[in-house]
Amino acid sequence: MAIRLKMGGYARVDNDPLGRSFVGYFPRMTEAEAWEVGRGMWRMNAGKARRQRFAIIVGEGLVRAVAEISAVTVHGDRAALEGAVLAEGHSVRDVLIGQPDPVVNRSQNPVGYRELLVEKQFVYRLCACGCGGRTDRDFLAGHDVRAIQARVREHFGGSQLRFVRWVDRQLATD
Ligand SMILES: [Zn+2]
Repeated sequence: MAIRLKMGGYARVDNDPLGRSFVGYFPRMTEAEAWEVGRGMWRMNAGKARRQRFAIIVGEGLVRAVAEISAVTVHGDRAALEGAVLAEGHSVRDVLIGQPDPVVNRSQNPVGYRELLVEKQFVYRLCACGCGGRTDRDFLAGHDVRAIQARVREHFGGSQLRFVRWVDRQLATD
C-alpha cells in the first residue's frame, strides 16, 4: 500500500519542526518542493505510515511528487515522513506523476491509503530460499546461490556435476 497526502493551499508557517517557512501547494512547484511541503506535518497513524513503502503527494487533485519512505518522525500529535523523491524513470513515479489523486473516497481527510498495482513488484515478500528474510526480489543477495547449493547437497551428494547432468537429462526428456 501507499500513503497519499493532500497538500492544502499555500501558507507561511512559523516554528515548523521540519524547518520550513511555508506549506501548501503553489503552481509550478517542483517534485522536490512538493515532497518537502507534503511530507508533514500530519495527524496520522505513525505505525501505519511506517508500513508503507511509497508516499504520494497530491496538490489540487493531481499527483505532484512520489517518494520512497525511509522513516516516520513524530512531533507531538503530528507526524512527518522522511525519505527520497523518486526520480524520473522509476516506474512507480512515472505511472503516477501528474495523474489524478489515486485515492478516491468521500473523506475530507488529507491522509489516505491505497493499494497500487504498480508497486506490486516493489513490495517486500519472503526470500524464496526459505530463510525467512524479506526482499523485493525473488531472493536476498546471494541467497539464490545458497538455495541451489542446498539442493545440490541434499539431492546430489554435494556434486555439482551430478546436478548438472540431472538437469540436462530432465531437459532432454521433455
Ligand atoms: Zn534467503
